[in-house]
Amino acid sequence: MVASMYGKNEEKKTIWVYLENDQGILERVSLEMLAKGRQLANQVGWSLAGLLLGHQVSDLANEAFAYGADQVYVAEHPLLEYFTIDGYARVVEQALMEGVPSVFLLGATPNGRDLAGRLAVRQRTGLNADCTGLRINPENGVLISEVSGFGGGVLALIEMVNHRPQMATVRPGVFSLGKPDRKKTGDVIAIPVELAADDINTQIRERVTGRAVDLTRTPVLVAGGRGVEGDFNLLTELADLLGGDVGATRPTVDEGHIERERQIGQTGVVCSPKVAICCGISGAFHFLVGVEKADLVIAINSDPEAPIFEFSDYCIVGDVHQIVPKLIKALRKVPEVSHA
Ligand SMILES: Cc1cc2nc3c(=O)[nH]c(=O)nc-3n(C[C@H](O)[C@H](O)[C@H](O)COP(=O)(O)OP(=O)(O)OC[C@H]3O[C@@H](n4cnc5c(N)ncnc54)[C@H](O)[C@@H]3O)c2cc1C
Repeated sequence: MVASMYGKNEEKKTIWVYLENDQGILERVSLEMLAKGRQLANQVGWSLAGLLLGHQVSDLANEAFAYGADQVYVAEHPLLEYFTIDGYARVVEQALMEGVPSVFLLGATPNGRDLAGRLAVRQRTGLNADCTGLRINPENGVLISEVSGFGGGVLALIEMVNHRPQMATVRPGVFSLGKPDRKKTGDVIAIPVELAADDINTQIRERVTGRAVDLTRTPVLVAGGRGVEGDFNLLTELADLLGGDVGATRPTVDEGHIERERQIGQTGVVCSPKVAICCGISGAFHFLVGVEKADLVIAINSDPEAPIFEFSDYCIVGDVHQIVPKLIKALRKVPEVSHA
């Protein structure tokens, strides 16, 4: 077995969270991981630290303290202004070798996944990708990562016994944010950055930013499946009236009816809305993973035996093309809704 760059005898009993940021804003998943990391650290008596990279980003440390970090390691450099895999991997690698944390968590975002994979190879350690749960064994300090496998048929608990850091990526929306404590402070520790332009092979020619869809934060989710037959305009009308947003099952995305970023479920987004209205969706396990955190689930399906009904608080048996227009019509008569 290949040994990792540092082992459990050299590790420090601390959990590090990679604080992904862009344009002066921390990714919500980083804060979610801090909130979870705080719980874990309290349970085992460890410290919790954030790792922040960028250019003139140190102010973001206060946000990390509010969500539970005891320390924030800050690596600032003009060449870190925008994410490049070679620049960021190099600096994080140096930081890991210096700080030797036992656990290192990253968000399962496009950049977080990119970074995590490269770092795991360089550290010669393992990577538990897309975890849906995390805990630490207080007896031996081993991180236990919950990962669903074989198409969701099994829930695997993975332990990294000897290799360090114990790395995991966590999908946005899996852990709740918790309440920030704005009075909490901590230590900001500057990391010296050794980085030259030649170290970065990626050239950023242009940055294109679109209006990102973030279904993890929507209070009302109106999700459509095959039963909607591609009529997402209808669902958008309902979602707009309720101040929510539209999501979809994977087959409808695969068929090109709606953008991929709106896919809910195991291979899509995990949401935690107050209300999820599931229209023409059968209720496969892979989809349900994405709405199981909803406070209230309403399902509309023409098949009274549809599995989604077993999971729902309110079950409406009928044709979605008839029921949704009626709902919209009724909602338009409610003064607060029609003027929203
Ligand atoms: C590894 C793996 C990962 C996956 N990841 C995901 C994922 O992340 N997200 C996801 O969604 N799926 C995922 N899937 C696919 C998943 O298993 C299901 O196939 C999918 O969720 C089914 O989508 P659906 O409910 O839209 O379609 P169907 O299962 O075909 O259901 C359509 C439903 O619409 C109802 N219906 C039909 N007409 C009407 C009507 N007029 N009015 C009302 N109801 C009507 C039917 O009764 C039926 O229940 C994954 C599969 C695998 C193998």
